[in-house]
Amino acid sequence: MSIHCYAARGPRRPLAPFQYRPAPLGAREVEVAITHCGICHSDVHLINDDWGISHYPLVPGHEIVGVVSKAGAEVDSLKAGDRVGIGWQRSSCGVCEWCLSGSDNLCPDSEAICVGHHGGFAERIRCDSRYCFPLPAALGSENAAPLLCAGITVYSPLRHHGITANMKVGVVGIGGLGHLALQFARAMGCEVTAFSSSPAKKEEALAFGAGRFVPVSDPKALRRAAGSQDFILSTVCADIDWAELLEALRPNGKLCLVGVSPGDIRISPDALIAGQKSLCGSMIGGRARMGEMLEFSARHGIQAKTEVLPMARVNDAIRKVERNQARYRMLLSNI
Ligand SMILES: [Zn+2]
Ligand SMILES: [Zn+2]
Repeated sequence: MSIHCYAARGPRRPLAPFQYRPAPLGAREVEVAITHCGICHSDVHLINDDWGISHYPLVPGHEIVGVVSKAGAEVDSLKAGDRVGIGWQRSSCGVCEWCLSGSDNLCPDSEAICVGHHGGFAERIRCDSRYCFPLPAALGSENAAPLLCAGITVYSPLRHHGITANMKVGVVGIGGLGHLALQFARAMGCEVTAFSSSPAKKEEALAFGAGRFVPVSDPKALRRAAGSQDFILSTVCADIDWAELLEALRPNGKLCLVGVSPGDIRISPDALIAGQKSLCGSMIGGRARMGEMLEFSARHGIQAKTEVLPMARVNDAIRKVERNQARYRMLLSNI
């Protein structure tokens, strides 16, 4: 039976109703009836083919929550009726050194859910059961869907870099990713600072867990933050004063990028050498980390703040994401 969904027919085209006939359900695959799907900035990049990896018709959507409707013959971890989440990653080889060491997000044969496959702006989806994650009961679907991409994207580097309760963590950009990063860092016990170009977000940033707010549009305020952070997570998709941000690190501090800013980063080697600072990046997280992140979110009440629209209003929702008007994540609903 065909799957009804919304697809872009070419770069920068609005999404339109589309249907496709899925391949037969694999022995290790499940079919999921989608209830909710978040909209990530990566979906907009894919629609526009900003990264040169898009295939059309393109069905975006990789923050999926739904209910298993069918399970392949060899699936024993999930059954029909289970509520699950699906994120950016669709599969991995399972046997390379990265897969075997729990870093399957770095597998060279990793596939993305909506690159060369049809994603979650749809009524249903079929996917490798290993990348369908059971959702703890404490997580409501409307607040959990963005955890599947935005959540794991910011949680994984905090864990990978050994962030502990005595550390000072800065989050740059208080949007879909940033508002979750503030909550995670706070729940880990850190002293948290929000760096944002929108002073209007100050009150909400404090409510999400920041103890301090630095308006990055004010060079003086950024300079005053010099030498204050052990770890800074940048979620912004814009070019900012990277040298000044490195200045905000304490000795041995790290600046970690998860937002894809368009321009090159030009910094003097001395900005890293003096103070032994590091500049690094992070991409989603492996399966084990995803399960851990969902449990952590359930235990600590981490919730995405979402604005829900019916799936049929997908283009209105995308427009809000493009204009940075989402507070804080747009979510499409089939129910
Ligand atoms: Zn994403
Ligand atoms: Zn692998």
